[in-house]
Amino acid sequence: MADTINEISVAPIPARHWTELGRNAYTPEGLGETRTEWLVRARTNGGVEGLANARQSVSAEGGNVASLVADLREIFLGRSVNSLLEIADGHAVAAGSDVRQALLTRGWMDTLAVDLVSRTRGESIATLLGGRRRNRIPAYESTTYFQDLLHPHRGVGEVIAHACRGFALGFRQFKIKVGRGGRAMTPHAGLHRDIEVVLGIREALGPDVKLMVDANFGYDGQPENLEEFIRATIPARLTWLEEMVTASVDAYQSLRNLQAKYCPETLLVAGEVDGNPPSGAFVDLIDQRLIDGYQPDIVRIGHLRWKQLETRLQEKSILPIPHNFGNGRFGLVAGLALATSLDNWVSLEDERIRPNVYADDELTIVNGAYQAPDGPGLGIQVDQETYERVGAPNEVVIRA
Ligand SMILES: [Mg+2]
Repeated sequence: MADTINEISVAPIPARHWTELGRNAYTPEGLGETRTEWLVRARTNGGVEGLANARQSVSAEGGNVASLVADLREIFLGRSVNSLLEIADGHAVAAGSDVRQALLTRGWMDTLAVDLVSRTRGESIATLLGGRRRNRIPAYESTTYFQDLLHPHRGVGEVIAHACRGFALGFRQFKIKVGRGGRAMTPHAGLHRDIEVVLGIREALGPDVKLMVDANFGYDGQPENLEEFIRATIPARLTWLEEMVTASVDAYQSLRNLQAKYCPETLLVAGEVDGNPPSGAFVDLIDQRLIDGYQPDIVRIGHLRWKQLETRLQEKSILPIPHNFGNGRFGLVAGLALATSLDNWVSLEDERIRPNVYADDELTIVNGAYQAPDGPGLGIQVDQETYERVGAPNEVVIRA
């Protein structure tokens, strides 16, 4: 008998960063410590359980739990696992025709389908998507926010200490939030604090770590400060400059010129805001190769879609560098599965959510990298005992 999805549960799962995070260039206040993942567990009559984080649907404008449950009932409940994806030569090549539109618009459904199909086949997501590409997954620490503004009396030293704690735990790549001089500080003071933070972290962590910066568009409208930031951080040998300004061909042509002049080895990356990649300005940025790395979100886009997107990026020699912030502990698991599946891989964004509801104690970064999961599917199970405490009291269950 073909496997059919006969029960689905949804529950909010608290997800906590390892510490309290400050603000970035666009958030009005600090990010705090706590997030929420919306854990979807879809079970089949064959005893398989697929997982997803539906946060994107619940937190979207107009989204709520009732509409999420209605969508799951319509798209997954009672459906045969075989109909979710089109398989050719043993590999997933497209979404099934009946669910294609749903999987395109809600990427976490793409991931749920990929997880269910690969677990039903008893193989990893990487195998389903074309083969395991690597065993070691480099990851970067992505929580170095404006910690100096959270603890002003400790200033720059607080940001440096934050990065040093990540280094002590095994991280070897760090992304630093910059762009203070837009909304968090005055332009002049913000520029100088950004420079001080970047050079201070480089000095503290030594020459071998990789350092990236992300301005969340904080240098919009400040061309002179942008040039000064890039010029002054040359000694930090930045691996990439992320979202220094809002995406447009003109803005990225100017940025390309600055990069060519001051830091030709540094990548220009952007795209986490693109929910239907590639769309809007990113079509031209990719066509004209004005970015070197493209960053649509893993959970928002999904695994099969990301695999398809990579093929298009390869034609332009643009690297996949998916965004993975806000996706909870599930995001780490989903990111490892994607990293294992793509031909090219740069680094996994790690927002450092503490273990919560998954039996994933083995997920530890060692010398800058995680071990690739073996599967089946995402290679992770829900820890039922924990779920009974943190998920079950707040869950909705629907049955076919
Ligand atoms: Mg970013």
